[in-house]
Amino acid sequence: MALLVKKYGGSSLATIDHIKKVAQDIAADHQKGNMVAVILSAMSGETDRLIELSRSVSDMPPSPREQDSIVSTGEQISTALMAITLENLGCPAQSYLGWHIPMITDSSYQKARILEVGKDNLMQTLNEGKVAVIAGFQGINDKGDITTLGRGGSDTTAVAVAAALNADACEIYTDVDGVYTADPNICSRARHLNMVTYEEMLELAGLGAKVLQIRAVELARKYKVPLLVKSSFGGNRYTWIREEESNMMEDAVISGVTLDRNEAKISVINIPDEPGVAHRIINPLAESAINVDMIIQNVSIDGFTDLTFTVPSTDLHQATSLIEKVAHEIGAKEVRTNDSIAKVSVVGTGMKNHPGVAARMFKALADENINIQMISTSEIRISCIIDSKYGELSVRVLHGIFELDNSKNK
Ligand code: ASP
Ligand code: MG
Repeated sequence: MALLVKKYGGSSLATIDHIKKVAQDIAADHQKGNMVAVILSAMSGETDRLIELSRSVSDMPPSPREQDSIVSTGEQISTALMAITLENLGCPAQSYLGWHIPMITDSSYQKARILEVGKDNLMQTLNEGKVAVIAGFQGINDKGDITTLGRGGSDTTAVAVAAALNADACEIYTDVDGVYTADPNICSRARHLNMVTYEEMLELAGLGAKVLQIRAVELARKYKVPLLVKSSFGGNRYTWIREEESNMMEDAVISGVTLDRNEAKISVINIPDEPGVAHRIINPLAESAINVDMIIQNVSIDGFTDLTFTVPSTDLHQATSLIEKVAHEIGAKEVRTNDSIAKVSVVGTGMKNHPGVAARMFKALADENINIQMISTSEIRISCIIDSKYGELSVRVLHGIFELDNSKNK
């Protein structure tokens, strides 16, 4: 007998027929004698509809508190419907909203962080032999207000509940069957992966974000909750996201290749090279909550240096005007921007035991005449900024060089 936490996303609950099918799967696990806690999203499209609705009545953006109160109702409906469906199958069940657990969060409406998960009520329900059907995405703050965790937040609810209940695993049912070595839309030879480490999944964010909320992976890593991603639309494929195992030493050097087209590059040219200039340039971005990813500073020549960094493309406009202002103040010559860049990354825990990955990556790009504009690394990732027109080509080339190609899919 195990304690299972199973999470179903909106596409798995799209219609009443979908809900009935999911209920049968849950009832089957319960029937086998397992304790089952289920976390549900809203039925697909429902959260979007509710956000629209909350905006439709006001010229101003709705207050975050009221918007959370509205959007959280999607999960109230899906969980109660599921509990009724389970009961109808003869499977005892009880639905839970955030306040009822309680799922205590801070007060940052729309992006609340979980502070504590009460487990007593849930354990009592499980011990009574009932399935606990829990509303994902929502919590309650110290004022008793409803909060929500941000889009896709039910994944994070599921991991938090699994950690609190010390579950054997947290199963995430979604409309994809797991993680691939590359985006199959770009690389037809992408292979399905049965297992990735938490670290790899976090570095594979570009691929992983399509599978589950990255914040949920961070939480799973912190509490060592093994995650199992499966499709609720059949098929036997799955991906485990878990801790590194010591016998993985012999595994592939690289687990995946990702492409990120959502960054833009800003260069500040001919900056008088004095203590404090990097801070003066980057600080206004930090104050405006603009995330700076890669940064390089050139060696200075005759007392002048260049600084180049990347920001999310969506922030390029705002970042450029902030940077032009400081560039003028510190006497830099010019600010250049480039939105047609892409970041290609190779990711793999195996990199730790295999030197020379960077050299192989740079050679592969050079052989295709692809110029590398910036480089950054972590312990298990190497990323290069290149011209965006080579983005897809670079993924396919690196996928081949690092022996990830699926030979069956030519
Ligand atoms: N229903 C919420 C959303 O659509 C939460 C979730 O599905 O995880 O973002
Ligand atoms: Mg989701």
